[in-house]
Amino acid sequence: MGDRYQVRIELSFASGHRLLGHQGKCVHPHGHTYRAEIWMASEALNSIGFVVDFTDVKDKVGGWIDEHWDHAFLVSGRDEEMLAALRGVEGSRVFVFPDANPSAEVMARELYRTAEELCGVAPSMVRVWESPSQYAEYGAV
Ligand SMILES: [Zn+2]
Repeated sequence: MGDRYQVRIELSFASGHRLLGHQGKCVHPHGHTYRAEIWMASEALNSIGFVVDFTDVKDKVGGWIDEHWDHAFLVSGRDEEMLAALRGVEGSRVFVFPDANPSAEVMARELYRTAEELCGVAPSMVRVWESPSQYAEYGAV
C-alpha cells in the first residue's frame, strides 16, 4: 500500500442492548455511551484539498445514527422476548439486527456499510467503542 491521506470522524451516541445467549452479564438489558470512529482514506485529494468533507460525513452518518441508534434499543431479531417487551413500551425506539446480536462487532460492520452507502465511499475502518477500554473494528484491519 502506498502513502495516503486518512481522516477520522468521531460520533457518539447512547443506546441500550443485550446479548442473547451470553453467559455473563451482557445478557441483561443495559446501555452504553458508544463512541464511533470512521476513517476514510485516499491517495489523492479532491479539488478542495479533502479526502472527504468532514461535515458531509458527520451530517450523513451522524444523522443516520441520530435517527436509528441514539436513545434506541438495539436488539437481535432472534430475541423474541426482548422484542415483545419493547413493543409494550410506548415511545420505545427499536433497531433490529435481523439475525445477529447487537455486539460492538456487528455495530461496526453495520456502520461501515451505512457509511459506504450514504457517502459513496467505503471507510478504511470503522471502530465502535462500547466503553473507554473496549472497542471492535470492521474494515481493513
Ligand atoms: Zn453491552
